[in-house]
Amino acid sequence: MCFMTENGEAPPLVVLADVNKHFGNLHVLRDINLTISRGEVVVVIGPSGGGKSTLCRTINRLETVDSGTITFDGQPLAAEGRALARLRSEVGMVFQSFNLFAHKTILENVTLGPIKVRGLSRTEAERRGMELLERVDIGAQASKYPAQLSGGQQQRVAIARALAMNPKMILFDEPTSALDPEMVQEVLDVMIGLAAEGMTMMVVTHEMGFARRAANRVVFMAEGQIVEENTPEAFFTSARSERAKDFLSKIL
Ligand code: ADP
Ligand code: MG
Repeated sequence: MCFMTENGEAPPLVVLADVNKHFGNLHVLRDINLTISRGEVVVVIGPSGGGKSTLCRTINRLETVDSGTITFDGQPLAAEGRALARLRSEVGMVFQSFNLFAHKTILENVTLGPIKVRGLSRTEAERRGMELLERVDIGAQASKYPAQLSGGQQQRVAIARALAMNPKMILFDEPTSALDPEMVQEVLDVMIGLAAEGMTMMVVTHEMGFARRAANRVVFMAEGQIVEENTPEAFFTSARSERAKDFLSKIL
């Protein structure tokens, strides 16, 4: 379901307006204004502790906000009950630490949500699950357990699991940060493929190659604020703020 505005156009998928969030005395999100259009790939970068993970988590309401508004698909974020469950199923999330169910097989990891939340039959969920596992090149591992797979393979399963819910958007929070270097590209390649197919994505990452290839926009965040946003090309070659220049000088 997609809600139309008065002039008949689909609204942006996500709109954060003047969002603020505190943890005790710590002001972690400061007047965040951010719009993500359908099909857009937004890379969020910035120093540790700047609020990037919290920003991700507010969009699927793993965190509440203190003030401001967030709309998803033209509607205020659901607060509870079935509407919240639907929101969570429409916004996939892929974490740094994979978060697969350790005691379930790879295929079960991918079919659990569709069976429980979407009400798919086991047969249908398994057919679609295998299709997705093959797509991320893990089909042969379907009956293994997460610990039997490499980190890169586990993260590809996590992406397949997110896709199994047919999400409208996927949030990636440092999806390659916990991986051995030789496994980073196999995960980024899957993400680049998703971006090319038009998946709406917000990706917290310091992988500049990914940002240059797949991002429509880079958002630089520090100390709870969006300091600047620009195209990847403009951001990496001519960041405007001292804060961003300083950050880039340390990671490039
Ligand atoms: P980033 O992902 O950019 O490193 P985070 O969003 O994880 O930043 O954290 C922003 C700030 O909020 C940090 O100072 C962090 O320690 C703090 N923080 C994050 N989650 C919590 C929490 N649940 N309770 C208290 N402080 C938190
Ligand atoms: Mg983080």
